[in-house]
Amino acid sequence: MFKTDIEIAQEAKLSDIREIAKKLDITEDEIELYGKYKAKVDYNILKNKKSRNGKLILVTAINPTPAGEGKTTTSIGLADALTVLGKRTAVALREPSLGPVFGIKGGAAGGGYSQVVPMEDINLHFTGDFHAIGAANNLLAAMLDNHIYQGNELNIDQRRITWRRCVDMNDRQLRFIVSGLGGKVNGVPREDGFDITVASEVMAIFCLSKDINDLKERLSRIVVAYNREGKPVTAGDLRAQGAMAALLKDALKPNLVQTLGGTPAFVHGGPFANIAHGCNSIMATKMALHLADYVVTEAGFGADLGAEKFIDIKCRMAGLEPSAVVIVATVRALKYNGGVLKDKLGEKNLEALEKGLPNLLKHVENITRVFNLPAVVALNRFPTDTEEEIELVKEKCRELGVNVKVSEVWAKGGEGGIEVAEEVLRLIEEKNSSMNFAYDLNMPIKEKIKTIARRIYGAEDAVFTQDAEKQIAELEKLGFGNLPICMAKTQYSLSDDATKLGRPEGFKITVREVYVSAGAGFIVAITGSIMKMPGLPKVPAAEKIDVDENGRITGLF
Ligand code: ADP
Ligand code: MG
Repeated sequence: MFKTDIEIAQEAKLSDIREIAKKLDITEDEIELYGKYKAKVDYNILKNKKSRNGKLILVTAINPTPAGEGKTTTSIGLADALTVLGKRTAVALREPSLGPVFGIKGGAAGGGYSQVVPMEDINLHFTGDFHAIGAANNLLAAMLDNHIYQGNELNIDQRRITWRRCVDMNDRQLRFIVSGLGGKVNGVPREDGFDITVASEVMAIFCLSKDINDLKERLSRIVVAYNREGKPVTAGDLRAQGAMAALLKDALKPNLVQTLGGTPAFVHGGPFANIAHGCNSIMATKMALHLADYVVTEAGFGADLGAEKFIDIKCRMAGLEPSAVVIVATVRALKYNGGVLKDKLGEKNLEALEKGLPNLLKHVENITRVFNLPAVVALNRFPTDTEEEIELVKEKCRELGVNVKVSEVWAKGGEGGIEVAEEVLRLIEEKNSSMNFAYDLNMPIKEKIKTIARRIYGAEDAVFTQDAEKQIAELEKLGFGNLPICMAKTQYSLSDDATKLGRPEGFKITVREVYVSAGAGFIVAITGSIMKMPGLPKVPAAEKIDVDENGRITGLF
């Protein structure tokens, strides 16, 4: 009945990317073409062209559920709706990671009539950025092991090597390995392992860098190991930052593609949203704001992780501030939060909806009261939603002074997002106060974590394992105490227990491990167990993907 995402994408008539560039007054001299429909944009535009100081619109959501929320779809559709309304708009999104495309998740280029295209390319190798990031990560690993092999002048403690290798593939076989086997000339044996490329600190650094010099400085600060005195050994100590940056020079240029509605789309960088901050590069966001009047961007996971880190890490580092926030929810996901099983979500159930709604309301409160930003709830409509259910969501949000607008961009493209777009424009027009952060940087590490837990998650407190206590004391002694916090927590609950849906109360967050991503410039606080190298499911999506003699790909979704 419905066309698949890839069918819709392949039927679309794409514009030459030079035409898309022109919409933002980007000249042919300022782009490098990667085929007809993809280009990289010269970042000197940021210095040489006058900025339009666009308004930033952040799209975030309730806690993810298997029912799907549709942040990317809503972001793209909203951008197209603003285009329909005659606004000079761009959208800034993360690049999808290759590995998960072959697993269960599928692609990450939007859905239905709100997609960025060419979706096959964007979901697969795209312009090669992630390969470059993998190469830079692995160059550092090679230089580190070579340093030890060549005599270990830096006195690196081989039991305290923190740097791991990476590859952009879901491959659980590589999570823990022993490397350097084979005798004296073949390296020094040690326990080692791979993360997926998007979990590499190089990815986070890449996304937080303002320019190539900032990139180099951040790369040089990466802590790769500790020496026998317990002092950090950095990529700078190994003199790796120059060559790493050289590998990243083209990757650092934002990628330009288009939405199905012809809106320019910057798709650039894609860090994990747990051990990293989970949004596209600062370079892409800044370029979009420089060239467009309205920029829609997405933060990963729910607002407790995605929006919090977007604001407390990315906005703080880059001097950005959203002018309005769109909180995506679906009736189905709210019912799931109210305890309905996945296969019963299509049935009307006001009781479950009312029970699940507090999840949305907590996120709305966080955005409007903690961060002091204007918000609208975009109700991403599914065919099974009833009017009564939609009315109930509207009523509860109204009590918090926030409007709910129905979004039908998945089914209708930009035309289906006009209501949300008009509300966003109204909020931007009326905005007369400025954003707050959730915590101050000069608080001690533990206080910062407790503040996030209490204010954002609604926890009673955060508690720390003995290991975590020790690590925090060490990091503060080493001078990392003033960095922002990157919380690594389950995305499925406001708490650190994935099964606690809705708006849990009376819980504590347990912090088990704390370490520094010194190049990215944040402290990672791990609650629960965080997977940095996913695996494939029993029947991987890869089994259904194919390509014909014309290069036409099928089976991607
Ligand atoms: P997120 O960015 O929140 O992870 P996506 O926008 O990628 O979510 O959407 C997840 C999946 O749900 C996609 O496959 C998309 O096509 C689908 N989807 C989103 N909105 C709708 C909708 N209104 N109706 C049907 N499917 C939808
Ligand atoms: Mg998404």
